[in-house]
Amino acid sequence: VADRLRGLAQSDIRRMSRESDRAGAINLGQGICDLPTPPVVAGAARAAIDADESTYTYTEGHLALRRAIAEKLARDNCLQADPGGEVVVTVGATGAYAAAVNALLNPGDGILIMEPYYGYHVNGAVIAGLEPQFLTLAPPRFTLSEEALRAALRPNTRALVVCTPSNPSGKMFSRAELEAVARVAHDQDLLVISDEIYEYIRYDGRQHLSPATVGDLWNRSVTIMGLSKTFSITGWRLGYAVAPEPLSRAIALVNDLYYVCAPNPLQHGVLAGFALPPSYFSGMASAYHRKRDQLCDALSAAGMSPIIPDGAYYVLADVSDWGFQTARGAAMGLLEHGGVASVPGSAFYQGANGEGLLRFCFAKEDAVIEEACRRIRRFR
Ligand code: GLN
Repeated sequence: VADRLRGLAQSDIRRMSRESDRAGAINLGQGICDLPTPPVVAGAARAAIDADESTYTYTEGHLALRRAIAEKLARDNCLQADPGGEVVVTVGATGAYAAAVNALLNPGDGILIMEPYYGYHVNGAVIAGLEPQFLTLAPPRFTLSEEALRAALRPNTRALVVCTPSNPSGKMFSRAELEAVARVAHDQDLLVISDEIYEYIRYDGRQHLSPATVGDLWNRSVTIMGLSKTFSITGWRLGYAVAPEPLSRAIALVNDLYYVCAPNPLQHGVLAGFALPPSYFSGMASAYHRKRDQLCDALSAAGMSPIIPDGAYYVLADVSDWGFQTARGAAMGLLEHGGVASVPGSAFYQGANGEGLLRFCFAKEDAVIEEACRRIRRFR
């Protein structure tokens, strides 16, 4: 096994799915999202298979899809991107991240990641030979200050990861925070990798703000978006990266070398999805809003102090008074005795900060959420 894999293991997110299957539990661990795929999306993919759309696409994806993405970026994100050279369709947001770190950074470069983090940002960087560096944001608001950001930089720091809305905290970065990011990135000549896969899942009237629209961040940013959550197609593995042309060209080259292109018929499926009316996207957010509130109520009733998320479909809950030594122990206790799988908070932190936390995913059918809530209330 190669040296670059040393210390890497399958994430606790995926491990808990296996444990959940073994125990026959309700899986609120991995962010699987088992809601139905919009029929137009599934239908268009099926039609493409029937029409024998079975060959490669350009590595950057179908032009029609990139045009639809560019229109959506202008409409929903205030981003003007050229579909000809600034958009790359990738194998999931994860594929976009992997292509970006390999295309734009050198082995030994430092990449600053805010914790709690999504583990793929860390291990995806490690496998590219980068040195992950960390800045801890404190609950419940996870506020980013310019001073803390500057203090976290090291001489070799070349990039910063922003995830908004964030997995696992649900934090959405404010304009003031992103202006601070823009100033620091400008002064230190940093690349900003912005993961916005949860852009449409946000609560209490909050608006999504793409970092690349703030200050001069467009020139130094890779904006990563995904379709897994937007169309409930986590297994289709489709996402895209948006960046100025020289960066996009490098990302497209890595995309090509790793897996040639994203699956052709599925690209047709999501193209149809981009024509869904705005009510589809707002309806999705309100459906998640209800599920969020339902789950948070159950967690509160069970004494698990949820940290109410601004966006995304996870909630971190404080279980430090359960008396378990570790978050893994708490997650296994809830799984074995409560029949609900979660992800131990330690999966999202380097140090001990996550040991009192569990992450629950609420991207589940209403009946599943209801039964999970019953079990959580009973567990108390
Ligand atoms: N993004 C999802 C989560 O955080 C899925 C992670 C995975 O299994 N790759 O749970």
